[in-house]
Order: sequence, then C-alpha cells, then structure tokens
Amino acid sequence: MLCPVCHIGETRVVDSRDDENAVRRRRECQSCKHRFTTYERAEAPRLFVVKKDGRRESYNRDKVIGGLRKASEKRPVSESAIQGVADRVERELYARGESEVQSTVVGDLVMAELRGLDKVAYIRFASVYRSFTDLNSFQEELAQLLAKTE
Ligand SMILES: [Zn+2]
Repeated sequence: MLCPVCHIGETRVVDSRDDENAVRRRRECQSCKHRFTTYERAEAPRLFVVKKDGRRESYNRDKVIGGLRKASEKRPVSESAIQGVADRVERELYARGESEVQSTVVGDLVMAELRGLDKVAYIRFASVYRSFTDLNSFQEELAQLLAKTE
C-alpha cells in the first residue's frame, strides 16, 4: 500500500491487532515516516436502507460514522468507541437477515448506543436524526434521559 501523504513511499505494517470484526494495522511510510491505520473487514452482504420518502440506498457505514463523529464533536468519545458503535449497529442489522431495513431502525439503533456512551452526543444525534416533530417530544425525551442519569 502506498503512503497517502507522499504517495511515493511503500508502507510497512508496524503493528497489527485482531478485533472481533476487523484487523487493525498501523502502517509506516518507508519514505516520509508518516503513520496511519487501516482496517480490514470482510465484505458485508448487501443491505438497503429505505428512507422516509421511500427511496432506497445501499447501507453506507461511512454515513453512520459521519453522523456519530458529528454528534461526538468535542466530546470525550474516542474513534474506537465510534467504530465500536458502528460495529454493533451493523451486527444487529445483518442479524435480521433481511436485505432492506428502514432508516428509522438504523437511527434508533445508533441512538440506543449513544445513549449509553455520551448524553450530549446522544441529544445532538437525536435532535438531528429523529427531527423531533415538536418541542414537547424533545423535552419529554430530555426529561426521561435526565431522570435516568440522576
Ligand atoms: Zn510517505
């Protein structure tokens, strides 16, 4: 694999770790010494997400990760925690054994994970993803959450 920074150097693996779902490798560029991480995963079976307006699109892990990163901005949520959430959500989705899933199901799974991980990230994600229909339902959710953490 070529170095993503200098695009010249060949990289070598300096560390390799086997997680449950992926092989994580630290690589170092032989030329500029830049270090980066790669994840190797088995290719998942095809899964479609059906959106609220009925459109279908291929399940995209990057979208889930993007939403998680955005919600977790400036919060003490590590990259590996984010990857872990995506792993668990995917496992759950594929365990259903269906070729398509409603987008709300994906959102609910992510929210359930975030809830246990970081309250602020959860609220941020929930307010975007669920697009609370009115202020009352949002306040209800917030009150429930606060009651549970006290
Ligand atoms: Zn390089």
